[in-house]
Amino acid sequence: MLIPEEKLEARIKEIGRKISEDYAGREILIVCVLRGGVFFACELAKHITVPVRMDFMSVSSYEDGTESLGRVKILKDLDENLEGRDVLIVEDIVDSGNTLHKLMRVLEVRRPASLKLCTMLDKPERRTVEIPVDYTCFEIPDAFVVGYGLDYAQKYRNLPYIGVLDLGEGI
Ligand code: 5GP
Repeated sequence: MLIPEEKLEARIKEIGRKISEDYAGREILIVCVLRGGVFFACELAKHITVPVRMDFMSVSSYEDGTESLGRVKILKDLDENLEGRDVLIVEDIVDSGNTLHKLMRVLEVRRPASLKLCTMLDKPERRTVEIPVDYTCFEIPDAFVVGYGLDYAQKYRNLPYIGVLDLGEGI
């Protein structure tokens, strides 16, 4: 276990409070990145006191080795129009930063009033592309983690805490 449930949820509550202060008087459109971001986005939304809308998006990076900067494959697009909205992307984890870098470029084109990024976990050591992370619950070392929405081959998302995957222990 890397981050127990109580510690994680206390920190999410704190970030929710900070976001509520920063967005006072405004409405937030949470863009939750599927599937890993779902548990975090729902818990976070419970602690935001300004009005919140939620929408969901599923993306994958093009990994064909060609010049694909700024392009992501949209597997499920948003239903909401972003124009003039205060958009907060809510992600499970930022690793290299590639997916989010591309996603942000796609969303910027839709002319939101503001576009910020909130992540549950961040592995700064792994970053290859600089992206502006506005809210982070926890920075973690370079390890493969599961739980609280994060999977390994679609398993372990439902663990209520963040754990480090140990491939040696009968998965
Ligand atoms: P990036 O484009 O930043 O390299 O990749 C981000 C995505 O990779 C995350 O949204 C997540 O789906 C996946 N990912 C990165 N690190 C981990 C990890 O430690 N555990 C799990 N389960 N997924 C990860």
